[in-house]
Amino acid sequence: LQKSLLEDGNTEVVEILDAHLAMLQDPFITKDVEEKIRSNPHESAETSFLEVISDYKEKFYRRKSAFFEERIRDVVDVSTRVLGHLRPVEKVSVKHILVESILIAEDFSPSTVAEMDTNYIKGLIAKAGGSSSHSAIIARAKSIPYVAGVELDKYTDIEELIVDGFSGKVILTPTKKTKLVYFSMQKNQIETDRRLQKKAHEHTKTVDGQEVFVWGNIENVEQIGQLQKNGAFGLGLFRSESLVLSRKEFPTEEEQIAVYQKLLSCLPGKTVTIRVFDIGEDKITKKEDRFSSYRGIRFLLHNREIFETQLRALLRSAKYGKLRILLPMVVDVEEIIEVKKICRTVAEKLTEEEMISDAISPNPISIGSMIEVPSAAVLADSIAEESDFLSIGSNDLVQYTLAASRMDMRLTSLSKGYHPGVLRLCKMAIDAANLYEKDLILCGEIGAVPENIPLLLGLGFRAFSISVAEIPLIKETIRKTDLSYAKNLADKALAAKTATEVASYMQESSVKLQVTSPE
Ligand code: PEP
Ligand code: MG
Repeated sequence: LQKSLLEDGNTEVVEILDAHLAMLQDPFITKDVEEKIRSNPHESAETSFLEVISDYKEKFYRRKSAFFEERIRDVVDVSTRVLGHLRPVEKVSVKHILVESILIAEDFSPSTVAEMDTNYIKGLIAKAGGSSSHSAIIARAKSIPYVAGVELDKYTDIEELIVDGFSGKVILTPTKKTKLVYFSMQKNQIETDRRLQKKAHEHTKTVDGQEVFVWGNIENVEQIGQLQKNGAFGLGLFRSESLVLSRKEFPTEEEQIAVYQKLLSCLPGKTVTIRVFDIGEDKITKKEDRFSSYRGIRFLLHNREIFETQLRALLRSAKYGKLRILLPMVVDVEEIIEVKKICRTVAEKLTEEEMISDAISPNPISIGSMIEVPSAAVLADSIAEESDFLSIGSNDLVQYTLAASRMDMRLTSLSKGYHPGVLRLCKMAIDAANLYEKDLILCGEIGAVPENIPLLLGLGFRAFSISVAEIPLIKETIRKTDLSYAKNLADKALAAKTATEVASYMQESSVKLQVTSPE
C-alpha cells in the first residue's frame, strides 16, 4: 500500500503508514502475539492477535488523552489490515442474499440500500443514520422498514424480531400476541396501499377544489416503474450523484446520456428534473457526509471538467423529452449566473460539434435552483428572478437551519420540519416564487408526512416532490384537506415561537381535518 501511494506522490499518507508499520514492530505487539499464539495452540492466530490488540487499546484508553484516543484509531486500522491478511474474506454483497432477511449493521450506505432486492431484504436495523438520511429515503422508496439509532449489543442470538418502520421501534423476540398484532397491521397496510393505489392516477384537488401536483423523487432508473405506477405528476428530482456513489467514480458523458435518455424516454410527456451532482469531498468515501460544506454547486463550479461533462450529457439528452436541470446547495444568485454562462458556452460548443441541433443559446435549458440553505431562502427573491423554477430542499433546509444533522437519530424530532424557523424561510421562498411567477416545488421528506400536509398547503405550496412510495398516501391526504382551515393553521404556525406550539395547532386541526390516516 505504501509503495503504491508513493508512486502516486501521496507523501502525507506514506508517513502515516510509517507510523503504522512502526506499531507492528513494537515489541509490545510482536512479542505478545507470538507468545500468545504459542501458548494457546487451540486458539486461532486471529483470536490471539485480537486479544493482544485489545490490551494495547486498553493501555491507550487508560491514558485518557485526546492524543492517545486518536492513536486508537490507528491501532484499529492496522489490526483490521492484519486480520484481513490472516483471514482474507471474499467481499459479500447484499445482492448475494437470497433468503428473506433482516439486516443489522453499524451503517448502511445509500448505494448498498439501493442495490437491495426487496424480495429478500425485509427490514434494516442500523446504529448510525437519521430519518431523512439518504439511506433512509431510499429504504422508504423501496418500502423496506428501516430503524436507525439502535444500540446493537443486544442483537446476538435473536431468532425473531420485528422492525416497525412507522414508529421506529425494534421488538426483540416478540410474544405470540405482539406477532398477531403486527401481522394484522401488516395486512391492513397492504389493503390500504391497494386502495390508495387505485386512486393514484386521479386528479388531486383539496376539498375546496384547489389542484395540487405531486411529483416523485428517485435515485435510479429502476424506480421509474414505481414513479409511474404511483401516479407521479412528473419526475421532480433525479439524484444524479447516485451514478457516482454506486461506482465511486464519475461516469463518462456517454454513460450519463444512456441514463438520462432512459429517464426521458420512459416518461414521455412528463417533465424530468435532473439535479446535477450533489456531491462533495466525500464523493468516493463510503460515508454519507451530508454535513460537508464543500458540495453541490460550489463543488461543481470548482471542478469544471466534471460539471461541463455533465452539462454536455444533459444538453445532448434534452431532445429525448421534457428535461430541466436543478442546482443543489445554491447560496446566492452569483452561482446561477455563473452556471448559465457555462451552460451557454457548452451549448455553443456542442452546436459547433453538431452534437445538438441549432444554437439553442442563450437559454439552452430550463435551470432551477434548490432552496436548501437558509441564505438561499432569505435571498429567494433575487434567486427566483434569475432561475426558471425553484425547489425547496426541505431535508437540507431543516438540517442547516436548525443545525441538526440528517444523520443523527437523536435529532429526529427537529427534522419533522414544522419548526417556525423553517416555516418562515419557506414562506419567503413561496412569496419570491409568486412575485416572479416561477414554479415552486416543495421537495423532500417533510412533504411525505401526511400530518404536515394541511400546514404546507396553508403556507401556499401547490406542488410536492417526495419519495415515490408515499405518493398515493399524500395525494389522498390532500384530497381530504380543506384549504381555508389549512390557511388558518399556517397563519397561526407562522406566528408561533416554537415547534411545540406549532405541533399543538397541528394536533387541533388534524382532528378537524381528519388527515392522519385515510380509513
Ligand atoms: C433535500 O435536501 O430536501 C433534497 C430533496 O435533496 P437531498 O435529500 O438529496 O439532499
Ligand atoms: Mg438536499
